[in-house]
Amino acid sequence: MGSLSLTSWAIGWGSLAVLLRVTSSMPSPDHHEGDQHHHHQHSENPKLLYILMDGFRWDYVDKQSKSELPNFDTFLSNGVKARWTNPLFPSLSFPTWTSLVTGQYAETHGVIGNYFYDAQTKEKFSLFNEESTGKQKWWTSEPIWTTAEKAGLKTAQYLWARCDVPIDGVRTDYCEHFIKIPGKDIFLENIMNALEKFDQGYDFVQVYTEHTDHTGHNYGPDSQEVLQAVRDLDDVMGILMKELEKRELDDVNIVIVSDHGMANTAPGTIARHEIDDYLDTDLVENIADKGAIMNIKAPPENIPKVYEQLSAIPGINVYKKEDIPEKLHYKKGKYVNDILIMAKESEYGNIWSEKQGFTY
Ligand SMILES: [Zn+2]
Repeated sequence: MGSLSLTSWAIGWGSLAVLLRVTSSMPSPDHHEGDQHHHHQHSENPKLLYILMDGFRWDYVDKQSKSELPNFDTFLSNGVKARWTNPLFPSLSFPTWTSLVTGQYAETHGVIGNYFYDAQTKEKFSLFNEESTGKQKWWTSEPIWTTAEKAGLKTAQYLWARCDVPIDGVRTDYCEHFIKIPGKDIFLENIMNALEKFDQGYDFVQVYTEHTDHTGHNYGPDSQEVLQAVRDLDDVMGILMKELEKRELDDVNIVIVSDHGMANTAPGTIARHEIDDYLDTDLVENIADKGAIMNIKAPPENIPKVYEQLSAIPGINVYKKEDIPEKLHYKKGKYVNDILIMAKESEYGNIWSEKQGFTY
């Protein structure tokens, strides 16, 4: 219950999922027959490099020719690509990063937004606030690196969510948790670091890059700048493949995933609503998140009035907690509060609360 069954862990609407086996040197199942303990020797196991390209929309690899993206082309023609991926709700970074490593929906792993609010303790989870996201309390589901560590494998993560928080007292062998470092250079640097780790006998290494997400947010998903950013990532993938060969790392599998896509929200393309123009914010205790969703906490006696005021915002759906559709696998989340407002898909509404500065 509460788990996802999707191709190679890949989720997030409009995002990318690619798997490449560099060689076909997978040991046969009877390889370890009669000698079970060998199975856990690191050198006997194929290694896995798991790359997360943030905000890499599903069509980014199709928007340029094969000669412009020769290394993605190598991946696509030698590996396998998911035909589609199902979205997590909400299709935002932190919830999806957590689903990618736990296989669970947001209501199960509990990371229900980039920003959310514990109404009992008044604590906030806030995307770019390291102190807030690093609290042990948010992290209750076992990620794949913990499972791997428990199985005796060596793992490392580069800029990957909160890999530094121990689960069941288990830590990874090496973790650099997420902080915002845009650009191509840090991706190349971390790919080289990952290769070093494989040289040192690591089994499973995860590398995160926000290059396409950062560029998409600044210039829009249909911009020339995003095309360049995708070519930048392609360059790094080329270097990676050359280095694997040079270092004779011939047993490395590579999985590339994205966490979500991106819609064009340039001025004039969608409506942008300031929540404060509709809602008397004195009636509420907290407003969390922004953009496509907001989750609102209000004293019980104010909920009917708040619901009524929010319902006047054009282009959005308003749900009391109990009415949030089951199919979103969201409503049972521990930190889901009284009212959820959600931009309608057809309008790509955009909701903000800049005047109040709540939560973020
Ligand atoms: Zn993201």
